[in-house]
Amino acid sequence: MTTIKPKDGFFIKVTCPGCGASLKLGADFFVIRCSYCDSVLRVKMPDMPPAYLARSRVDKRQVRFRVDRHLKKQGLPLTGSDIQFKRIYYPYWKVDASVLKIRSHTEERVIGYETEYAAEEVEVRVKTITSVAPYSATLAAGTDFRGIPPSIGVRGTTVTMVPFGKEILEDGFSSFSAISSRRQIWDKMSSQAVGIGRVTSIASHENLTQLFNPTFSVVYFPFFVVDSFSGPSYRRLIVDGLSGRVVADFDPLSESSDGSELPEEPPETGEGIDSDEEIEFGELGIEMHRCATCGVDLPDRQSWVYICRNCNSLNLLENTDMPVEQVLSCATDSNRSDQQFPFWSFKLSDTDAEALGPVLGGLYDSDHLVIPAFRMPLGEAMLRLAQRMSSALPRLDMHPVAGYNSTLNHVDVSLRDATRYISLFVHWARLTKTGKSDAVLADYQPQSAELIYAPFHPESYFYVDSALQSITFEKSLVG
Ligand SMILES: [Zn+2]
Ligand SMILES: [Zn+2]
Repeated sequence: MTTIKPKDGFFIKVTCPGCGASLKLGADFFVIRCSYCDSVLRVKMPDMPPAYLARSRVDKRQVRFRVDRHLKKQGLPLTGSDIQFKRIYYPYWKVDASVLKIRSHTEERVIGYETEYAAEEVEVRVKTITSVAPYSATLAAGTDFRGIPPSIGVRGTTVTMVPFGKEILEDGFSSFSAISSRRQIWDKMSSQAVGIGRVTSIASHENLTQLFNPTFSVVYFPFFVVDSFSGPSYRRLIVDGLSGRVVADFDPLSESSDGSELPEEPPETGEGIDSDEEIEFGELGIEMHRCATCGVDLPDRQSWVYICRNCNSLNLLENTDMPVEQVLSCATDSNRSDQQFPFWSFKLSDTDAEALGPVLGGLYDSDHLVIPAFRMPLGEAMLRLAQRMSSALPRLDMHPVAGYNSTLNHVDVSLRDATRYISLFVHWARLTKTGKSDAVLADYQPQSAELIYAPFHPESYFYVDSALQSITFEKSLVG
């Protein structure tokens, strides 16, 4: 079985279209190789969020054992012959995003002069620190149901999930509808994240903590709803269907939310999937990772853009609304050990370019913003490189890429992600320059994009650009 270690404890099980073998996908799963038939496969993420189901791993007997142990510990009567089990799947939104923190402070430097008549000068500089870290969370997506935890967190043990569909529900299970929208969940999550990261804002020092760049999926998680009647005592217990842990224990007739005499009931078996409010899901696709023009296998090294080594045609693996106008590279002295590093170059609208020009300083002789498209930690170094490349762009001698060339590096950053980094970049640039910024990231919609390759060569600890000899970044950043 092909396995990639998942980053957050969630695996997705799919079938290889080449040989039918079972494959397990981890978090970073866009291109994989089947270990049975050696096919290189790629995962096509749908436009709508995909839904998965984590199958229950415990049976009634095990659940009852855990429930009795729990009741005993609480000094409550154990389950009797009158015990009822209901098995449910409850949906959670799983959101994988990035949390951005920008902190700014001012630094003063006093410059004294030798003559006693000149006043001291104080130079004030704004320093910013940008950090970006991955952020994952799960939040309940279904109708409120007492005892169901608001989050399933990130699991200690690995959870294997299968793509969700009504037909894969096991007998005896019912499922709740997913009714919270992505918007609602995102707002809730964003405000929580800001709460966690809040710092004291000192006058004139601007800080920002914000979630951005989310991807959404839904995880149907198994629970047992156990009603135990023992004489006058009526307890309801909610049991985690993976671990068998009792997650809630209460008297369902007390404090019922609507004051009714009857406890809340989960949906009937087989019910609950087709309500009007139901969120629509997309389907995860698995296909052969081949050139769309000539059909040869593409390299199994993940990239959003490939130039086929067989037919030289361009393969863009992303469906975006924005046209990719052309692929360009920069003329270079071939004696060097050059590597071509990819960047997304965005054309801003006249209005945006005009509005941003003064904030971004001398950057804009051009109306293009250039964002690195190779894997590099998102943060100061990346933003500084974006800034240098953006201002250098008009001076680079670019020409269309003729075809496959082994010096072209992989495109690790999707066009979609790079588009989102524009806002981050503008925010950072504004803060760095003025010490002030908006409380939230503004949204910029560039008009078109180009993929450009710029030549760099290694020099001790750095990569130095081979065209202007003026742009550098640390080698260690691209390890
Ligand atoms: Zn296979
Ligand atoms: Zn081809």
